Amino acid sequence: MQRKPLLCANWKMFRPPDGWDATDSPYRSQARADIVIFPTHLHITKCIKAKMLVGAQYGRPEPEGAFTGDVSMQMLKAQGCSYALCGHSERRQNHGETDIFIAEQIIAALEAGLHPILCIGETKEEYDKGKTQSILKRQLSPVSMINSLPAVLSSVVSIAYEPVWAIGSGINALPADIQNIHTFIRSLLPEQSQKSTRILYGGSVNELNASGFLAHEDIDGLLVGACSLEVEKFTEIMRSIS
Ligand code: PEP
Repeated sequence: MQRKPLLCANWKMFRPPDGWDATDSPYRSQARADIVIFPTHLHITKCIKAKMLVGAQYGRPEPEGAFTGDVSMQMLKAQGCSYALCGHSERRQNHGETDIFIAEQIIAALEAGLHPILCIGETKEEYDKGKTQSILKRQLSPVSMINSLPAVLSSVVSIAYEPVWAIGSGINALPADIQNIHTFIRSLLPEQSQKSTRILYGGSVNELNASGFLAHEDIDGLLVGACSLEVEKFTEIMRSIS
């Protein structure tokens, strides 16, 4: 099955980079690939007005309530978002997000009409102890929870495999190793969505290594942090999608 490439720019808690909305901006979605930017909540509206495909870095599952500082998946959809990251490792680490909470986020995102991207990945310690597969299996449990949803819904969930030791570290994972892990992840997905689910790689992706990852059959796109804030580098990454 032909899966449309998905390239995500995670701007984290940074302002949009200079030139992000130029006419030839690399952040605009294209016919051959979905390109999605994840700005801070404060910059979402500006990016939507610039006709970009926009995702939220985080959304709370409850539609509304006494949750100071939070916004809900429903509100993000109403604001014009199309995608939502669920369980990014920085949220798991800094905000104590659990697998159950992340499952609730995914379900709320789907119900709101957003396309959730479930982020999974092992830490350096877990990697060194050879626990990668068991950690991924556990972190993928939210997907089995949504298995009961109709196939059309479960197939709009994407997965981002981001080994924590490769995020922001400059340490390059080997594309061939990532391909093997993606094959493993795909084998754990519900049968009805195995072929259609896009599995992205994230972790110190740059303009030099992007094409090496994208050359592999089971690497359907990239989630880019630091380099997505540099327009020229992101342009090169965008061009590496064939
Ligand atoms: C990320 O934030 O998801 C990420 C992969 O960051 P970086 O590209 O900087 O490693």
